[in-house]
Amino acid sequence: MPEPYPSSSSPSKAEDVLTPIPALDLSRQYAEIAPELIAAVEGVLKSQQYILGEPVAEFERLAAAHCGASFGIGCASGTDALWLAMAAAGIGEGDAVLTTPFTFFATVSSILRVGAKPVLADIDPVSFNLDATKAEEKLKEGNDQKFRAILPVHLYGQVTQWDRFEALRERYGVLLIEDAAQAFGAAWDGRPAGSLGNAAAFSFYPTKNLSACGDAGLVTTSDEVLAERSKMLRAHGMRRRYYHDEIGWNSRLDTMQAAILLVKLARVERWNEKRRKLAANYDRLFAAAGLAETGKVYPGQGVILPACDARATHIYHQYVIRVRQRDELRTFLSQKKIGSEVYYPVPLHQQECLKFLGYERGDLPESERASQEVLALPIFPELREDEQETVVRAIAAFLG
Ligand SMILES: *Cc1c(COP(=O)(O)O)cnc(C)c1O
Repeated sequence: MPEPYPSSSSPSKAEDVLTPIPALDLSRQYAEIAPELIAAVEGVLKSQQYILGEPVAEFERLAAAHCGASFGIGCASGTDALWLAMAAAGIGEGDAVLTTPFTFFATVSSILRVGAKPVLADIDPVSFNLDATKAEEKLKEGNDQKFRAILPVHLYGQVTQWDRFEALRERYGVLLIEDAAQAFGAAWDGRPAGSLGNAAAFSFYPTKNLSACGDAGLVTTSDEVLAERSKMLRAHGMRRRYYHDEIGWNSRLDTMQAAILLVKLARVERWNEKRRKLAANYDRLFAAAGLAETGKVYPGQGVILPACDARATHIYHQYVIRVRQRDELRTFLSQKKIGSEVYYPVPLHQQECLKFLGYERGDLPESERASQEVLALPIFPELREDEQETVVRAIAAFLG
């Protein structure tokens, strides 16, 4: 295969000392914003107010506005945001919630935590998101289940085909709750993630595109009742101090994390824009190397690039390719000190602790196949183009 890239340094030098290219390098972000972060943390320390207070209220307000939602309710994690949204909607024992098996564990565990039953439908192999047609089949089957909600996940930063799910909401009278943990700033037809469903859950886990320095999460909604109930449930079910209307939990957004998130919220759009540029650059590099397989769903000898729906504003929380010899490629890259990740190697119906849900191998074939073929390449706003060239050159060397 011809070498499509000009090599800036001499080949021998490049081979001698491999500079690591991590899948995610948060130290570069820190280098850029350290003074502001430290000032924000110091502000909280000086105020001596560590629980809720103005930074939390301000972050909730600004983050909700950013997502086009009327209310934001900060909480301790994305997992708790999912739980809070469902608990506030009154989903519980005897209810069923429809979701995808190709997601992080918390999507399903939060359904179980509210006492409901997760029902899994397969993904669309192009977007990796919950397939609306397959979701509808499950709703139609019914099986005497009381479907209360659908919980689509905007995987890798691309909103699920939302108009299809809105049609299902109309037709089957279910709620739509977004797992938007990977999609802060993403949109569908110009409508932001977080404003699409009856409620949405965001995570600010350190690796997410908008991240805290620890655990943090947010529920967004434009439903006043849902907002009020989420707010109450995250603080022991209290409306009035020491009078407990309901048995809630302690899941507040930490004041220190809110102060940190305010610093980053002001930058997240620029960062998302950078992610989109990097994704376009990967696309271009793979095409130039003759590796991009277009018009196909599954990989042959080359690489299937991530597909972005024309109506979606993708924020590329992850840039995920499909390849045949995924595990071998991953080993090869790590020998070259290039980081990569697999989201997710085991679809949730095949997790040991979820076997009791009763799914067999082969029940959700697209998710099972995707779990063998997906590979997330380094992507973060500070990634350099020369590093992307090195990544693509390494993949070309492996596949060539
Ligand atoms: C990260 C993530 C969560 C959980 O968020 P935490 O803040 O880690 O609890 C839930 N769903 C998805 C899709 C995620 O990526």
